[in-house]
Amino acid sequence: MSPDATTGAHYRKAHFLLSTPALSQAPADDGAEVAFAGRSNAGKSSAINALTGIGSLARTSKTPGRTQHLVFFGLDDGRRLVDLPGYGYARVAEQVKRQWQQTLEDYLHHRRSLQGLLLVMDIRHPLTDYDQQMLRWCAAAGLAVHVLLTKADKLKRNAANQALFKVRGGLARLCPGATVQAFSAPERSGLEQAHAVLDHWLGYA
Ligand code: GDP
Repeated sequence: MSPDATTGAHYRKAHFLLSTPALSQAPADDGAEVAFAGRSNAGKSSAINALTGIGSLARTSKTPGRTQHLVFFGLDDGRRLVDLPGYGYARVAEQVKRQWQQTLEDYLHHRRSLQGLLLVMDIRHPLTDYDQQMLRWCAAAGLAVHVLLTKADKLKRNAANQALFKVRGGLARLCPGATVQAFSAPERSGLEQAHAVLDHWLGYA
């Protein structure tokens, strides 16, 4: 087996646990979890599906009525993946948006089992306002962040490297210590590097 297949095996066990708009309904705050965030359409669901090897896993999070939910997936031994709501394109009332933001901020600040945030950005449109806000919250919470610059297949190598360089600069300013890599769901590139980060955070490594 290749190293990638070995590390990826943990994530193929992912299964839906529960979906809730309220932190009070989240699974007990023990064990270890990693959250995925990204502006709508950034490629978060495709990244979750590629990383777990389960083509339909993140569809749950797109079920109408669940788009404002935190969606919890179980792995093994109290480990979890969490799909956070992306509010980028949603045409919702300002007050509803503020409520989501409050929930996200509370989650990032107070969830003790949370080991790190995997922030998905479209490599062609990185560091949106949403991304910058997430990075500031993570910096304030002292939370580890790894950025997936996805849809890397859409850019030539030079342009992809320029994007990586630019995002590294932004991270140094907004969230020092955060790391970044290129990723492509259809080409399945960057899987091994992303699995290594997840393994480290979840204590598999
Ligand atoms: P989400 O809203 O962040 O969950 O985004 P999705 O995963 O649904 O992706 C949004 C769109 O981008 C879909 O049409 C995907 O097929 C496409 N997409 C996602 N990841 C990639 C990628 O790595 N490469 C390419 N070319 N398209 C992607």
